Amino acid sequence: TRFHDLGLDERLMHGIADLGFEYCSPIQAGVLPQTLQGHDAIGKAQTGTGKTAAFLVTIIQDLLSNPITDERYAGEPRALIIAPTRELVVQIGEDAKNLTKYAGLNVATLIGGMDYNKQLNQLKGSLVDIVVATPGRLLDFQSRRDLFLDQVEILVIDEADRMLDMGFIPQVRRIVRSTPNKDHRQTLLFSATFTPEVLSLTEQWTYEPFSLEI
Ligand code: AMP
Repeated sequence: TRFHDLGLDERLMHGIADLGFEYCSPIQAGVLPQTLQGHDAIGKAQTGTGKTAAFLVTIIQDLLSNPITDERYAGEPRALIIAPTRELVVQIGEDAKNLTKYAGLNVATLIGGMDYNKQLNQLKGSLVDIVVATPGRLLDFQSRRDLFLDQVEILVIDEADRMLDMGFIPQVRRIVRSTPNKDHRQTLLFSATFTPEVLSLTEQWTYEPFSLEI
């Protein structure tokens, strides 16, 4: 499958072309036809498979093709990506900025251990569309009422098995609970392994997911 054949918005295609991507990786070819239709998905995939672009393309295409009609306020993203480590969040944030370069969408990256107010500035200038965050820092933003998750249309949980290993699930659970219900949002969950614990989370958090193993 070529990205060109997926019927994507021109502004997104331009970003994809800048990165030099022409053909979908196997996970992208498998998952995008489903997620672009709005279906939930769970993917068993390691880093290096192109899973990041798979969920970012889904998000950007959705945001571009469904401009919202309601008024939106500062600190109300339409898409949220949670990942377990700072490095991963920074990497996803960079990919998101590259892919949204021509799309006029704003990305904020929220990670622990760095200056809070600097990160807050990302939410103040213009309306934020996509937030990429580690769980603890995201909860800080929520509890200080700088971030609100009731407008989230797409939720991505990356490396769910590592979130479990690192003890982040109670925090992730609180975050997921403050987004719209699973039948009112699209949820994508990725994990390198599908242990019984991971599968139990997918049952709680996703709605009739398409499942793919790479
Ligand atoms: P990820 O598994 O998301 O960490 O991606 C692994 C690497 O593959 C990253 O450096 C991406 O930029 C690259 N990549 C992702 N999708 C494609 C694609 N369709 N064609 C070429 N490179 C890609």
